[in-house]
Amino acid sequence: MKFGGSSVVDAAAIDRMCAIVAAQQARGTTPIVVVSALGGVTDALLSLAEAARVGDSPAPDTGLDALSRRHHDQAVALGVGDDTGLRSALDAEFTTLASTLHELRATVDTRDAALDAVAAVGELLSSRLVAAAMARRGLPATRVDARDVIVTDDRFTRATPLMDEINAAAHASIQPIVSAGGIPVMGGFVGRTVDGRTTTLGRGGSDFSASLVGAAIHAAEIQIWTDVDGMLTADPRVVAEAEVVPHLSFAEAAELAYFGAKVLHPSTIFPAISRNIPVRILNSLRPDQPGTLITGDPPPNGRPFAALACKRGITVIDITSTRMLMAHGFLRRVFEAFEQAETAVDVVTTSEVSVSVTIDDNRRGADIVASLLEIADVSVEENMAILTVVGDRLATNSTLAARIVGALTQFPLRMISQAASRRNVTIVLPQAYLARAMMHLHHELFAASPARTGESAGRSPSVLQ
Ligand code: ADP
Ligand code: ASP
Ligand code: MG
Repeated sequence: MKFGGSSVVDAAAIDRMCAIVAAQQARGTTPIVVVSALGGVTDALLSLAEAARVGDSPAPDTGLDALSRRHHDQAVALGVGDDTGLRSALDAEFTTLASTLHELRATVDTRDAALDAVAAVGELLSSRLVAAAMARRGLPATRVDARDVIVTDDRFTRATPLMDEINAAAHASIQPIVSAGGIPVMGGFVGRTVDGRTTTLGRGGSDFSASLVGAAIHAAEIQIWTDVDGMLTADPRVVAEAEVVPHLSFAEAAELAYFGAKVLHPSTIFPAISRNIPVRILNSLRPDQPGTLITGDPPPNGRPFAALACKRGITVIDITSTRMLMAHGFLRRVFEAFEQAETAVDVVTTSEVSVSVTIDDNRRGADIVASLLEIADVSVEENMAILTVVGDRLATNSTLAARIVGALTQFPLRMISQAASRRNVTIVLPQAYLARAMMHLHHELFAASPARTGESAGRSPSVLQ
């Protein structure tokens, strides 16, 4: 059971999550709890790190005091303010944090390692607080240091988990607690290298921690408790009418997460697939809702499309070469430029004389362009967006892709791609058009669906008016 930042944001939320865990235990299951930092804490820690790095001297101290007060206040509100073990454990984390922040200025070569040591503190604190609160409410919680379970490589700020080591560590540190009837409580997001340095799995990585643990201990189910009713048919911040998708396949969920559905970290599904463990997305504010169930082979949901997803801040790079494109080895040289810059490519389209690719991490953009210019003409367009339609049925019914593109004729589409899996149709367009395109497409693809019910079904598109 993974609880995200909003599900542990304050004492009231932690109280709710304790009740959710207690209800599951009462049904005879043996929960394992993974928690994020209290909502907003990771952002606050990273701004403290930035202030420390640039030598903005009073800011880190004031910020540290505020964070410390917030955790102690919530401890009091949860009825564990007099737990001296908890108080000194929280204080010890803040003492270590203060010295890590202090070191940040001096450590140019190991800055990412120091950043991870700072960012990890949010989950180290929240797991202590939650374990103490659960114990006070009669639940047999035992706090586990996530670094004793999630073993990773040393790519700080986006470390890769080492599955064999995690399997062994989970059996050594989690299984005995479960066997003795206890409830392990650990922070998500955080890991440790084989030689003992703190790492993180990248922003939003607590979902991934939960599925790594779930796979390692062969859990019956991996539950992601968040602040929405499940995977919705579109990002609810863009499409207010988005509705819950009751069932998704692993492949559909993985595509949606990869193409921007923030409710799942993009890597969450892979450990679940490896052991065929169902994943459920649930709302900690409305625990009675059924949520979204993600399995290898879900029942048909009566809709041709599963959901839409989007990513902003995309850069399109066009590589044009009349001489070289068809020459053998050209594409290898193109992709080498991205590989050298450790930058992932999301969408690729080609014509006889050009290749267009998108990247969402433009930090090494200048290096990439410089190496591409050695072999071709290059043009770069920023502020683009990706809009993706996902659905297993896209693979078998080619009229569906036509419906998608046909619905978007009023918009300046820059790239269109359907990958070999044919499970998604991905469109690249200027970011300025994204929200309107997504609302319009959602209306066209979902409003008339037979599975749709409720008052919003007949609403006309609020787009282009
Ligand atoms: P948590 O803190 O629980 O990990 P996140 O903020 O990481 O929560 O993810 C939940 C948020 O993801 C939702 O509040 C919603 O705004 C956003 N989101 C984006 N796309 C979707 C989608 N397709 N379905 C559900 N939520 C989505
Ligand atoms: N606390 C981390 C973050 O904000 C990890 C997570 O919440 O999943 O990115
Ligand atoms: Mg999240």
